[in-house]
Amino acid sequence: MKVIDRLNNSKGKTLFSVEILPPLKGKSIQSIYDILDPIMHYKPSFVDVTYHREEYVYKKRENGLLEKFSIRKRPGTVSICAAILNHYNVDPVPHMICGGFSKEETENALIELNYLGIDNVLLIRGDAIKSESQFEAHKNGHRYALDLVQQVACMNRGVYIDEELQEVSASDFCIGVAGYPEKHFEAPNMKSDLKYLKAKIDAGAEYIVTQMFFDNKKYFEFVEKCKEAEINVPIIPGLKPVSTRKQCSALPKIFHVDIPETLSEEIDNCENDKDVREIGIKWCIEQSKELKKAGVPCLHYYTMGNAEMTCRIAEEVF
Ligand SMILES: Cc1cc2nc3c(=O)[nH]c(=O)nc-3n(C[C@H](O)[C@H](O)[C@H](O)COP(=O)(O)OP(=O)(O)OC[C@H]3O[C@@H](n4cnc5c(N)ncnc54)[C@H](O)[C@@H]3O)c2cc1C
Repeated sequence: MKVIDRLNNSKGKTLFSVEILPPLKGKSIQSIYDILDPIMHYKPSFVDVTYHREEYVYKKRENGLLEKFSIRKRPGTVSICAAILNHYNVDPVPHMICGGFSKEETENALIELNYLGIDNVLLIRGDAIKSESQFEAHKNGHRYALDLVQQVACMNRGVYIDEELQEVSASDFCIGVAGYPEKHFEAPNMKSDLKYLKAKIDAGAEYIVTQMFFDNKKYFEFVEKCKEAEINVPIIPGLKPVSTRKQCSALPKIFHVDIPETLSEEIDNCENDKDVREIGIKWCIEQSKELKKAGVPCLHYYTMGNAEMTCRIAEEVF
């Protein structure tokens, strides 16, 4: 079922959903079930599965020269989605990125998803890989998530790259995109970021999932600004409980989000990461309860491999 239909049929109830990461290469599918089994108790409406690009590493050869290798540490997004659908009969939402894909490869991946009966995709650009100073598009690929949305919207109308194909069948994907309550870090200002967010919606995206935030005020202001910009689709807040002291500096660095003073002070006063996790869970429960009371369409949790924290939050909130 499409995410947008679930949201529209929820009769004002706030839904629950999660994002998981594919396991590190070499681990088994059981590691996915170990995360999802306890989460299933809280009946997630859908499960997002992230996509991870290749990275380049240099290994020293016997002759002393360095050899460049491409590795993907977390492959398996599509097959994990198929496994989730088969194993739990819950809708998976594979993430698809622009980086590293030609348009043709994107089209073929969409065909695989269509054959598997996957109804939803979250379309994002992806970030620069470590060896790039800024995001570089594949030479036959997409520069922005907007271009990817346009490609999927075309397939939904039965238009493939090769327009001469005969008797084609149209796909029917529900498209989600990313939004940033604290602005995407490359956008010169919020107005510009919202202009491109609106372009993604106008091109066919039906809902937005936000970057994590730790101050609900940021989300509420973002929703208001979206309304002013005539962005009228559901905006799903993405939440993550802080789980280690290190994240106080790592999360702002990686995700370009602020940690509120009260939260960072509480974390500073913790003796160890076990205490930090308790603070993180408490904070996330309070955020969730306030958002739920405000009638948000869904609460979406970035599990980052930690089912226990997500379950403790869901237990209190749903
Ligand atoms: C909910 C969520 C899930 C994510 N999942 C993944 C994942 O699975 N894998 C992964 O690698 N990354 C993931 N990311 C990270 C994401 O790839 C990065 O944040 C990336 O830097 C931006 O992606 P985007 O889709 O928002 O990009 P875009 O919408 O393309 O925007 C990127 C920047 O370009 C600007 N812009 C957009 N369109 C145009 C245009 N036409 N002309 C000029 N400027 C423009 C925007 O304002 C913004 O500053 C996720 C992020 C979120 C919030």
